[in-house]
Amino acid sequence: MSELWPGRKGPHVDYISFPPALSWQTAFPRKIVILGSTGSIGRNALAVIDQNASLFSVQGLSCGSNASLLVAQAGKYRPPYLAVATEEVRARVEDALPANYRPTIFVGQEGYAKLATVPEATTVLSAQSGAAGLAGTLAAALAGRVICLANKESLVLAGSLVRDIAALTGSALLPVDSEHNAIFQCLAGRDQDIDTIVLTASGGPFRGLAFDQMANMRPEQALAHPNWKMGRKISIDSATMMNKGLEIIEAFHLYGVAKDHIEVVIHPQSLIHSLVRLRDGSLLAQLGQADMKLPLAHCLTWPCRAQSVTPKLDLTKVGQVSFEEADEEAFPCLALAKRALAERGGMCVVLNAANEAAVELFLNGQVSFGAIPRLIARALDAHAATSPGHQPFCPPLADRAKNLDDLRQLVRKAEKRIVLLDQKSRDFVRAIAQEERMP
Ligand code: NDP
Ligand code: MG
Repeated sequence: MSELWPGRKGPHVDYISFPPALSWQTAFPRKIVILGSTGSIGRNALAVIDQNASLFSVQGLSCGSNASLLVAQAGKYRPPYLAVATEEVRARVEDALPANYRPTIFVGQEGYAKLATVPEATTVLSAQSGAAGLAGTLAAALAGRVICLANKESLVLAGSLVRDIAALTGSALLPVDSEHNAIFQCLAGRDQDIDTIVLTASGGPFRGLAFDQMANMRPEQALAHPNWKMGRKISIDSATMMNKGLEIIEAFHLYGVAKDHIEVVIHPQSLIHSLVRLRDGSLLAQLGQADMKLPLAHCLTWPCRAQSVTPKLDLTKVGQVSFEEADEEAFPCLALAKRALAERGGMCVVLNAANEAAVELFLNGQVSFGAIPRLIARALDAHAATSPGHQPFCPPLADRAKNLDDLRQLVRKAEKRIVLLDQKSRDFVRAIAQEERMP
């Protein structure tokens, strides 16, 4: 089945991991843990699982604080393990579960890491939002699990670390993000003939506006994505186009592709989920409904195909299909992400943390939409002024890890560094936002 896996030795593409073992590929029902089951991706994944019930056995579910939805999901699937953010949430979940069902409930970041490595599961869907998803992804990779990766932030924060861990543990990654999933499907079995990968972007709710025209947009306007229904944070990222910026970084790590071999093109209809440009000029694309159940079904059942999980796309009703250039003046977050990727030295950690902090401030009504890129730029400038830059933030692991214990320790150290820089950058953004609000 490896012919369905992207190549690892092309001049421009070196996929992040080898394919999963044949024993995993053929073993059904697939035993799965969902990190972030109460979110938009988590709920879509459970819908795919419901539509293909004989193929899956749910071993673990998790929420941050949405105890009531987790209780409803746990009551239905009865997994032996759950994980929640705090002791207080754990108490609420425990109280509400039926008396004849007593799962193990893990708590906090350590708890999510434990859930990601329970021995009963072979497969982990990493679908928590933001940097909170890093601990689970790293733990799953260290344990050699097959990871269906929705949490793009894990690669933004620690892409080279995840690649190194996967090489040492045999963990395999399948990309859920619709663009990266499309590229995965276009790249299957290829290595030598790739020129560039082309990420499509809808342009979000403010496509076509100038920066000044959107500077004072309110959260409900920014949350109203024209094509996709998603969680709040990624919806704002789509409005600022930081989502596409993060996806460039995600593609860089996932496909081992040089920065100048990644293109972005605006495609407002979200029909073509991304493309690959081949050496001879051919373009391969993947098309489908704008519904995350499609890439989820692809990852969850790979290398098989699920029964149709979305209504059939009627091509005769699609109408116009168009493409535009991305406007980096109107959407400075795109250029900020490219800058962070070029400068390295922890800049992607700062970019992600500053963005999460700025988006939270915006959603709470504390800063304007137009302030988001400004706050991120200041955080990047501040970090660049104090760090040497152009150095890898996580030095390669291969020469230093002689055994699994070494590897765990090195990863723990690297994770600590990332978490510290993440926290420092969030604090920085909150402090300058506060300063800006003072008369
Ligand atoms: P949501 O906000 O809808 O859900 C996030 C999930 O993570 C929920 O289960 C939430 O729990 C949990 N969570 C949030 N914060 C924490 C925390 N601090 N600790 C532990 N758990 C937490 O997000 P989405 O489903 O939209 O996105 C999930 C990931 O998938 C993101 O990385 C996003 O970029 C990526 N993605 C999403 C797409 C989409 O269409 N939604 C498309 C492509 C990628 P609770 O419900 O309790 O808050
Ligand atoms: Mg995407």
